[in-house]
Amino acid sequence: MKRFDFGQGSPIDIKKMLEARNPASYGQYEEQVSSIVEDVRKNGDEAVFRYTAMFDKAAISLQTLRVTESEMEEAFGKVDKAYVRSLEKAAARIEAHHQKQRRYSWFDTDAHGTMLGQKVLPIERAGVYVPGGKAVYPSSVLMNVLPAKVAGVEHILMTTPPDAAGKVNPLTLVAARISGVEEIYKVGGAQAIAAMAFGTGTIPKVDKIVGPGNIYVALAKKAVYGFVNIDSIAGPSEILVIADETANPAFVAADMLSQAEHDELASAVLVTTSRELADQVERELKGQTSRLSRSAIIEASLENYGAIVVVGTLEEAIAITNEIAPEHLEICTRDPFEVMNKVRNAGAIFLGNFSPEPLGDYMAGPNHVLPTNATSRFFSPLSVDDFIKKTSIIHFNEAALKELEEDIIRLAEGEELTAHAQAVRIRFAGDGVTGGTK
Ligand code: NAD
Repeated sequence: MKRFDFGQGSPIDIKKMLEARNPASYGQYEEQVSSIVEDVRKNGDEAVFRYTAMFDKAAISLQTLRVTESEMEEAFGKVDKAYVRSLEKAAARIEAHHQKQRRYSWFDTDAHGTMLGQKVLPIERAGVYVPGGKAVYPSSVLMNVLPAKVAGVEHILMTTPPDAAGKVNPLTLVAARISGVEEIYKVGGAQAIAAMAFGTGTIPKVDKIVGPGNIYVALAKKAVYGFVNIDSIAGPSEILVIADETANPAFVAADMLSQAEHDELASAVLVTTSRELADQVERELKGQTSRLSRSAIIEASLENYGAIVVVGTLEEAIAITNEIAPEHLEICTRDPFEVMNKVRNAGAIFLGNFSPEPLGDYMAGPNHVLPTNATSRFFSPLSVDDFIKKTSIIHFNEAALKELEEDIIRLAEGEELTAHAQAVRIRFAGDGVTGGTK
């Protein structure tokens, strides 16, 4: 854990520390990923089965590629009823939040005879990648599928790696059913992304691929971008806590640890105006880590990418935060709303002592797929917007076009595009008949 006192450290130091985790440094995997993607594009299902045997040690065939209804029932038999109810409760809250994000087509008319607008439609096919290698993420199923459902996407499919016995984790299947996905294929990694991007004999091509995954998944999404749309390339998780002397040090430390446990690349940073709180949080971090199951990961993450920064004022804390642009920001100060108003860059902001980050991971309602690696400067959380597209609508009657005739011709001729000018001029040239049709 690094410790900076303002004046010794600077915002740039922490930024540098975090930049070391940038996906740009993952170059060594790119060649392998692009050869997997090309292979699946060329050889379809056969390549999918080959890579699944190689990386997941599972023998999958045309008969077993898609999850069946009896596998779904088996999964429900294995999952605790209380767990199912909690997932349903989370799904209802997530859906309600995303309903507020819906957009509708609109049309404006004016007295001159124009109608201009935007037609808003869902994309037709979405593919959701659900990781399943080292851990299981049913919450990711809800967070990625429900915005697509709310947007009105008709065809949503899911891919997730099978275990060596060719089975999908029951929690993933239960979450898929609760969020309303019926088409689930047992394939993971770069081969899953390629299958959804290009289609195979069995797996249909989609318009957009969303969902987190390891480095193979992330680089494959980058490789297929353009053939299909993608959500984003998610980097390792981050939390930054702004706290003053009113914060509870045990709460602050617990929330930092909740991110540090994700993996060794995760980052947890505290920026505080109170030297006393900084000392207390440092002690809490040590004490609490020893009692947690993932203490080895936490220690590595705090050592590499953890920091406590003491600043003179909250204004300085806000300036550092805006520079770092964290994925998750917690504000534990006397007046968190006032601080929030001055924050420009953050994926999600948690206000006050009783809004811990894991609340947002599972139950609050807003999406937990958030921009990482300082990309909250220009990216937003996953939302219904990710699953819609817009088409411009233009209608002018004769009088309305006449009003703009001269301007259009002038602008077209300025660009030396005489056919553009002619397409307008012809409509007002006497009987509208040219030499060509005589
Ligand atoms: P995964 O499903 O992403 O990856 C498993 C797949 O990786 C396998 O099916 C295999 O095809 C491929 N693979 C493994 N080793 C390979 C190799 N040597 N060469 C080529 N391909 C190989 O599951 P995971 O590995 O557990 O990773 C999940 C990731 O998702 C983690 O990094 C986790 O942090 C991230 N995640 C992020 C969020 C978020 O919201 N940002 C949520 C959940 C998970």
